[in-house]
Amino acid sequence: MTALSVLSVASEAMPLVKTGGLADVVGALPAALAEQGIRTTTLIPGYGPVLEKIGKARKLRDWDSLLGEPARLLSARLGDHPLLVLDAPAFYRRQGGPYADSAGRDWDDNWRRFAALARAAADLAGAGKRGFNLVHAHDWQAALTPAYLRFAPPQGARVVPSVVTIHNMAFQGFYDAAVFPRLGLPQAAWSVDGVESYGGVGFLKAGLQSADAITTVSPTYAWEIRSPQFGMGLEGLIQARSNRVHGILNGIDPADWNPASDPHLAATYSSRTLAARKANKRAVEAAFDLEPGDGPLFIVVSRLTWQKGMDVLCEVLDHLVGIGGRLALLGAGDKAIEQQLSAAAQRHPGRIGVRLAYDEGLSHLMQGGGDAILVPSRFEPCGLTQLYGLAYGCVPVVSRTGGLADTVIDANPAALSSGVATGIQMNAVDYPALAMAVSRASDLYYRPDQWRRLQHNGMKADFSWSASGAAYAELYRRLIKERQ
Ligand code: ADP
Repeated sequence: MTALSVLSVASEAMPLVKTGGLADVVGALPAALAEQGIRTTTLIPGYGPVLEKIGKARKLRDWDSLLGEPARLLSARLGDHPLLVLDAPAFYRRQGGPYADSAGRDWDDNWRRFAALARAAADLAGAGKRGFNLVHAHDWQAALTPAYLRFAPPQGARVVPSVVTIHNMAFQGFYDAAVFPRLGLPQAAWSVDGVESYGGVGFLKAGLQSADAITTVSPTYAWEIRSPQFGMGLEGLIQARSNRVHGILNGIDPADWNPASDPHLAATYSSRTLAARKANKRAVEAAFDLEPGDGPLFIVVSRLTWQKGMDVLCEVLDHLVGIGGRLALLGAGDKAIEQQLSAAAQRHPGRIGVRLAYDEGLSHLMQGGGDAILVPSRFEPCGLTQLYGLAYGCVPVVSRTGGLADTVIDANPAALSSGVATGIQMNAVDYPALAMAVSRASDLYYRPDQWRRLQHNGMKADFSWSASGAAYAELYRRLIKERQ
């Protein structure tokens, strides 16, 4: 095997900046690929907090004008792996989050901010000593990279193959046609086979059209996005390029998510010492002002959005409490959902505890102390919280869609009798389905032998990055060979 060098481009990466699962995946990929003999260099924007965390960094090159603003490229480390940080102060150094201001409004110039990231990636891809063998762009924020490589490649450089990964089809980076002339692309790119999308500019669309391969983060989602319900306008493109679409499941990083060594837990444990979870359960109850008890403790760690089925969750809370359950919920998102959750917590003091925040450490403790994690998503490209639940013996209760369908084995009679179940699946995301799923979880919880079996099976299941790293490596090698 020859050593390959890949540039992975994204708008977030653990442990430097995270708003969702994308960051976990981008942060974990370099180690997974290193096992396959692939050197991964990650490129992310230089948001203020990222620059603070990397400290003093060496400058590798600069641009007088990247989408109209000066920028420089800094060299740093992402764990044991190389990191490039694009420092363009006018774009990335501001108060607020990576995509929106402190009030949650998307930045008006996101199209320019992320076109700049993609332009920089394209400039670096095949150029000079630092040339890479392939570029891997994640989500719409990086998806213009293959379009730049195809329509406006850097002069004199090799044009390397590219992969675009869809972590969520719901976010497409769709902008008015008026931005097109400012992207620095030739007129030829303005076509249905290029960046034009329903009369506007589609960043993700442009990437999906231009990349040598498209991946999504689970096999079921790769199939689902061929339909309008999940393809969200791009189903035709996905169908047309279906021989280029691959579903590769995300893994989880055992260095971060391992109940035997997790520093955020009150008590660490393994599948042989599940009784130790009790100390974590007490700690979760304390953190959420819940009455201590031995009945089922449900948890939710989620963005509070329609996609995640959080509106339906609000509807079933009275039922959940009615059957003797308690809930600890950590999340932030839609204001209307936040209000309903706060109202439910007031209605059921000691039974429902809500923390409207983002708290990485608390999310670990909840997986270590909760009995079951609810993930009633309407669509879920892969989903990570159910994988953490499996690894931590916090039984996942999920809707049968995307990566949730691929990673949880429903405790139906056949799976229970053959001893392979790992959780509970529901067919629909509505009140009857979720209420029934919660009741099924509660019934199983009171059958300790079966419950322990679910926990053991989940903890045994292998969702490490090894298999997925190998699948990406195989795809990269094939594309590079194809190009030669
Ligand atoms: P998505 O990326 O669509 O939000 P995933 O399940 O793929 O969903 O990934 C979500 C990630 O963000 C998980 O690592 C989860 O633990 C984490 N997360 C979500 N909300 C919170 C929160 N409020 N506090 C801490 N971690 C959170």
